[in-house]
Amino acid sequence: MLIVKKFGGTSVADKERIFNVARRIEEDYRKGNDVVVVLSAMGKQTDILLEMARDINPKASKREIDMLLTTGEQTSVALMAMALNALGVPAVSLNAFQVAMHTTSEYGNSRLKRVDTERIQSELENKRVVVVTGFQGVNKMDDYTTLGRGGSDTTAVALAAALHADACEIYTDVNGVYTADPRIVKSAKKLNEITYDEMLEIASLGAGVLHNRSVEMAKKYGVQLVVRSSLNNSEGTLVKEEVKMEKMLVSGVAADANTARIAVIGLEDQPGVAFKLFHHLARHDVNVDIILQSVGRDGTKDISFTVKEDDLDEAVAILERHRQGSLKCQKIDVEKDVAKVSIVGAGMMSHAGVAAKMFEALYDVGVNIKMISTSEIRVTVLIDDIHVEKAMNAVHEKFFVS
Ligand code: ASP
Ligand code: MG
Repeated sequence: MLIVKKFGGTSVADKERIFNVARRIEEDYRKGNDVVVVLSAMGKQTDILLEMARDINPKASKREIDMLLTTGEQTSVALMAMALNALGVPAVSLNAFQVAMHTTSEYGNSRLKRVDTERIQSELENKRVVVVTGFQGVNKMDDYTTLGRGGSDTTAVALAAALHADACEIYTDVNGVYTADPRIVKSAKKLNEITYDEMLEIASLGAGVLHNRSVEMAKKYGVQLVVRSSLNNSEGTLVKEEVKMEKMLVSGVAADANTARIAVIGLEDQPGVAFKLFHHLARHDVNVDIILQSVGRDGTKDISFTVKEDDLDEAVAILERHRQGSLKCQKIDVEKDVAKVSIVGAGMMSHAGVAAKMFEALYDVGVNIKMISTSEIRVTVLIDDIHVEKAMNAVHEKFFVS
């Protein structure tokens, strides 16, 4: 069997954990499996490196930042290969250049285009465990690039797809994917299975379990994923196309506090206004989420929408720049203390009343809804962020406990 195993930063944070992981790898190897390991940087190393860069030059170029960040993963793979060797397991570490993992040209958030498999395959034929740097790639200028924060998951899925691996296991510091963040909702339960589409919605909500592009790629290439803990032997959560059981109405509740609302008030009620507004934001790569437009009255209308709180200042600056020109409006209002709470479930496609049940749960605890958006398998509401804990617990209880 060919197994790809990915371990996150906390799983390789120190010597003891590195050996703990090395022994798990050894177990698979001794059973006669081919093992490819993908690692993140140790512990908080990526944050530490970013801090060092900022300290030297707050305007450091993205190219140099990537050059720096890729050392994090290079450190962990070399140490892991040494640990495996110390246990008597033949192993070799490879970085993105050596593999090679080809990406698009931009730095900081590049996409994988192609993965060469010859070098890995020949190392596997020589009965070596291959330990590969996650998160990094090489562009057409032969420069290092990175795949965006949390990108090692995507490296693992890309390798599993390219090598036609029999299993792709993502090891982390929790036991799998939960019905809600167990730190916020005490009664949260671990899921045995979840579909790609549900996982994609949850990952995009910032739940942090899996990089959302890794789920996209797993779905595209049909790579089944197992998310499980590196600290114990529990089963974990299987991520795949269809789940065996009757589809659950709702499989998870998630919150995202990295959200802000912008209301553009008193826009002209004319064709092209929404286009201009969102075009200006899109040109600067500001992603917009929930959008609400009021009914036009006296020749004017209001449009409000949410952005990531990190993008708020930029978004407002862009709007202010165009306010006297192509985008006439009376007022721009900003609200930071808001959060999104969402329910996700493939079963809601074929069942009525799921949204109503969520709204009832919020009503029961007196939480006001500011905005609503839905997809086929998701309902999201915007609320004041001080109510997130209360809202999540109420919604979770409504769907999972009763
Ligand atoms: N080390 C990188 C990060 O911290 C990539 C990863 O962990 O997946 O974002
Ligand atoms: Mg991660």
